[in-house]
Amino acid sequence: MHADLDRQRILLVHPLGYASGQAGHDVSRLANIMPPLGLASIAAYLMERGLQVDIIDCYARPDSDQAICDYVRQHRPAWLGLSCTTSSFLDGVRIAELARDACPGLKVAAGGAHVSALKETLLSDYPQLDALVVGEGEETLYQLASATNDDHTALSGVVCRTDDGEVVFNGYREPALDLDALPFPAYDKLEGFPEAYQLPIFNYPKAPNTSCISSRGCPYACSYCDRSVFRRTFRYNSADYLYRHLQHLRERYDIRHINFYDDQFTFHRQRVIDFCQRMIDQPLGMTFNCAIRAEHVDDELIALMKRAGCWMMSLGIETGDPELLAQHRQNPDLDMLANTIRLIKKHGIRVKGLMMVGLPGESEQSVRRSIDYILKLPIDDLNVAKFTPFPGSPLYENIHELGVFDEDWAKMDCMRFQFIPHGMSEEKLEELFLTFYKKHFRRNDVIWGYVTMLWKSPHSWGRFVRNLGGFLSFARKGKRLGDEG
Ligand code: SF4
Repeated sequence: MHADLDRQRILLVHPLGYASGQAGHDVSRLANIMPPLGLASIAAYLMERGLQVDIIDCYARPDSDQAICDYVRQHRPAWLGLSCTTSSFLDGVRIAELARDACPGLKVAAGGAHVSALKETLLSDYPQLDALVVGEGEETLYQLASATNDDHTALSGVVCRTDDGEVVFNGYREPALDLDALPFPAYDKLEGFPEAYQLPIFNYPKAPNTSCISSRGCPYACSYCDRSVFRRTFRYNSADYLYRHLQHLRERYDIRHINFYDDQFTFHRQRVIDFCQRMIDQPLGMTFNCAIRAEHVDDELIALMKRAGCWMMSLGIETGDPELLAQHRQNPDLDMLANTIRLIKKHGIRVKGLMMVGLPGESEQSVRRSIDYILKLPIDDLNVAKFTPFPGSPLYENIHELGVFDEDWAKMDCMRFQFIPHGMSEEKLEELFLTFYKKHFRRNDVIWGYVTMLWKSPHSWGRFVRNLGGFLSFARKGKRLGDEG
């Protein structure tokens, strides 16, 4: 390692994923800018152990190349840490090159879902990276950054090179972290927090708001889901920790609404009961959204969550075709899902349905079944993802047998059909995708629901009107970046 580098300092970067000039047309960004909570958690953990850490979030501030170069030239950190999804990975590699040119000797470590899924093969192909952090990053990155020599081959959770250039992985780090022992994420390190970040439009009653993660992992095994980072465990913050975390966000940043970004917020029922009771007994003046599986809520729990401030629940439905659902999910019970949605609505909580088009086995008929299924349900908000076979998901293993897959990582953002199932065409999928949205958003009760947002979420309406051009372009073309394709 170069002698003039600061071994006590690390810069964490969240790449944008595409050329910064396109950011203004990106309908995903217009609708939703989520803080990089994983990096903020790692930053807090490293700072607690005496390192100096800064974060540059290129998603919130797209034109950050100069800021990254200036930072590494001025502060000469020993390490740069990148958090990458599949679609942002190559932009992360570009940033690694940029930063290394500006600061010779700087080492670069990448982490995140894409890295955790592909491990050794990825490091072999990208000499711009020095190490990969596999699994949860807090302790592993600390071990890397505080190592006194350049041989990291004995560290668990790390993919790195030996002196001979051989790429090695020493296995996942065990035991997993106790989530209640972690400091709250370093929100102060996110420039402009909370105003620089936005929850999806019409997904909150008040601003400022933010996302929050209170558990890690999911014990299910849906065919399309990559769980390489936290694997099939479920660990969670206690109700007390969670309450104190929200209290911190309210008192320090005046946050009024929280979106729990957990895969399964209600998986541990007693934790949710204790948390809700605390929110009822000692109100913070905050509301919240969460994602659930229908198996893990019931009438009593939903009633309690409503009293505690639950404003919206999201449910992964994926498809309304029973046979397709059975191929890709456990407990493929569409009646149970429908009954749960009606139950949630009965308690006055908004429902967001999460659907997917283009799964292996999808046909025009199965998409039309999905549309018919959704149209019969009192869904308030809808998200239709374009199925994308991510590395690490069970389907990825033999995806080429199931259709035509263009594995162009930069385009794998669930907003493009990179995979075309046998018997379908991209044009037909795009047509059905637009039909799905149009049929949903033309329902009278859905339109009325958005009218009520005028007084239930006036901040959302302001954003919607300001970005109307981008949303109309998306409604016409179904494309994430208005000028593409
Ligand atoms: S899709 Fe949801 S329920 Fe299924 S494995 Fe992934 S996180 Fe778990």
